[in-house]
Amino acid sequence: MAYQHLFFDLDHTLWDHHRNANETLKDLFVDYDFDQNWEFTADQFTDSFHQVNFHLWDRYRQGSIDQDFIRKERFPKVMAQLGVAKSEVPVSLAEEYLQRCPRKPHLMPFTLEILDYLQERYSMSIITNGFSEIQETKLSCSGLSPYFSTVVTSEVAGRLKPHPQIFNFALNMVRASGSECVMIGDNPVADIAGARSAGIDQIYYDPANLNEAVDSTYRVDCLTQLKDLL
Ligand SMILES: [Mg+2]
Repeated sequence: MAYQHLFFDLDHTLWDHHRNANETLKDLFVDYDFDQNWEFTADQFTDSFHQVNFHLWDRYRQGSIDQDFIRKERFPKVMAQLGVAKSEVPVSLAEEYLQRCPRKPHLMPFTLEILDYLQERYSMSIITNGFSEIQETKLSCSGLSPYFSTVVTSEVAGRLKPHPQIFNFALNMVRASGSECVMIGDNPVADIAGARSAGIDQIYYDPANLNEAVDSTYRVDCLTQLKDLL
């Protein structure tokens, strides 16, 4: 195949969002003395966070809420699920999370190994729905920055994945046509259906083998399998 340029999603594809978020949340649980004040455990706190966060991001992708809503409402919703009134939620919690989490360094298994291999052969960019400042912090604190010539965020492109506009924006940035590129990502809608609608081949990364039915050009459950394809 004649790919020249690779597009990578960031969260849950290269940057281990789940592990980094859990570590941050457990640090906050300790630093804010949650166990002195409330009945729930650190695991219940992280589980509640992931549930709430998943739904908020889904609504954000659909355009029904904005970034500010996520930032303001996320922790009150998490704590409400755990029986804590909004007025009791520490106001600095949301800001502390946003400061700390992007600085966590954990990557998905074999990320640096595969990027070392691929950077000899391709130019590589990130296409992400995250916020520019936060995504830049993640890239630099985890050592990913040097691998990527371009980082396209939805904030810069003006639309979120799966909208074709963000993919077309990325194609313009790297001066490539869709047929010269492939998109690698973990989200069946944002990454896979989105890239397809922009005429870009897709490699679906499904580490937990959750979605057998997803229609993509290729699929892998470990990043090392990219060596067989690229
Ligand atoms: Mg992702």
